[in-house]
Amino acid sequence: MFDKILIANRGEIALRIQRACRELGVKTVVVHSEADREAKYVKLADESVCIGPAPSAQSYLNVPAIISAAEVTDAQAIHPGYGFLSENADFAERVEKSGFVFIGPRPETIRLMGDKVSAKDAMKAAGVPCVPGSEGALPEDPKEIIRIAKSVGYPVIIKAAGGGGGRGMRVVHTEAALLNAVNMTRQEAQTAFGNPMVYMEKFLENPRHVEIQVLADSYRNAVYLGERDCSMQRRHQKVIEEAPAPHIAPRYISRIGDRCADACRRINYRGAGTFEFLYENGEFYFIEMNTRVQVEHPVTEAITGVDILQEQIRIAAGEKLRFRQKDIAFKGHAIECRINAEDPFTFVPSPGKITFWHPPGGPGIRVDSHVYDGYTVPPHYDSMIGKLIAYGDTREQAIRRMRIALSEMSVEGIKTNIALHQELMMDANFVKGGTSIHYLEHKLAAKDEVKK
Ligand code: ADP
Repeated sequence: MFDKILIANRGEIALRIQRACRELGVKTVVVHSEADREAKYVKLADESVCIGPAPSAQSYLNVPAIISAAEVTDAQAIHPGYGFLSENADFAERVEKSGFVFIGPRPETIRLMGDKVSAKDAMKAAGVPCVPGSEGALPEDPKEIIRIAKSVGYPVIIKAAGGGGGRGMRVVHTEAALLNAVNMTRQEAQTAFGNPMVYMEKFLENPRHVEIQVLADSYRNAVYLGERDCSMQRRHQKVIEEAPAPHIAPRYISRIGDRCADACRRINYRGAGTFEFLYENGEFYFIEMNTRVQVEHPVTEAITGVDILQEQIRIAAGEKLRFRQKDIAFKGHAIECRINAEDPFTFVPSPGKITFWHPPGGPGIRVDSHVYDGYTVPPHYDSMIGKLIAYGDTREQAIRRMRIALSEMSVEGIKTNIALHQELMMDANFVKGGTSIHYLEHKLAAKDEVKK
């Protein structure tokens, strides 16, 4: 096991990584920006290094500063968390070339999965079902593009190979709009991601977002830890996640889960990862893979008892997976609400000083948050200030516990989206389970109509 790990992230995930390290008896170095100097997890770390001013470009994305922090503190490995540099293959390479262990997949795997066209090709080859669409990137020839769209069938979606964060996508309903949409997406992709390559998929009209969590070691052992339903989204950002996904028979999950674990063995995947699928009419369609730990990992931890962060660290240290697929059992149901510093209905960010913070508790409740009374939410980063996770024997119990937890939770000084979560926990369709990725946007739009 490592003696010391550097945490190259901030906020709740920096604290989560730190807790995993402490339980494993590993010392921690936290790097932070000037804006995060006072954070409690920075004080709790064995060592901390300020790596630059508040803007992430000069701190959390400052590769030379992070590498020198690892050098001066004698850390052996770097955990990138999620966001920032976590899926940057060049960073992973720099870390390894500088003599540190990158806690994640090999740089070439991150590169393969970071390009959505090569990722889809690799998944098809591994027998993972994908959304029907173009074979690889779209060609230049307009006639060919029209022919491909016809054979895929409208509506189609044009997506950037280098895209991410819900950007670089355009839905096309008619042939008349096709070529213009392809050109615009190419231009946008060039500007935003430095890569003009685009591809085409059938646009699924009413899918759910269901993803499979995997763990793989360096010796081609791989398991899946079940699925998560993350369909409750706004602007492609997840708001609520749960495990298991309501109303999907376990045999469908084990079939797709086996495929994912098998794909990990084929591409020699290492570490924790997530295969994201759209799910419609009983079929799974691969859209992309995330080669890092995800925000919503706690719901999987709740139903499997596996500590995903600790396993990531063990795998990076060269240990073999400690369990096989048959050792993984799924029990109960877990729901996560992302608590954001924002207006619950206009979604305008609300940074500032938290004057009162009372987190909920009780059976089955977990709060992952780095904030406290008197903490100031900086305006420079993501608005998520914590995650509230409720576990129960059944989905009904998890929902009941979540409602109680939300009612106990009290945050003053800034606005939060707690009221939105309270409304969603009472929503008849959410309670029924299985709503699509468009449900929240439609619900919010309908509310706006009523107001007018
Ligand atoms: P990103 O990497 O930007 O998150 P994804 O490929 O994961 O891009 O897609 C993000 C979201 O866009 C999906 O969760 C889904 O809501 C929508 N989407 C992507 N592809 C399709 C498709 N073929 N049909 C319908 N919706 C899609």
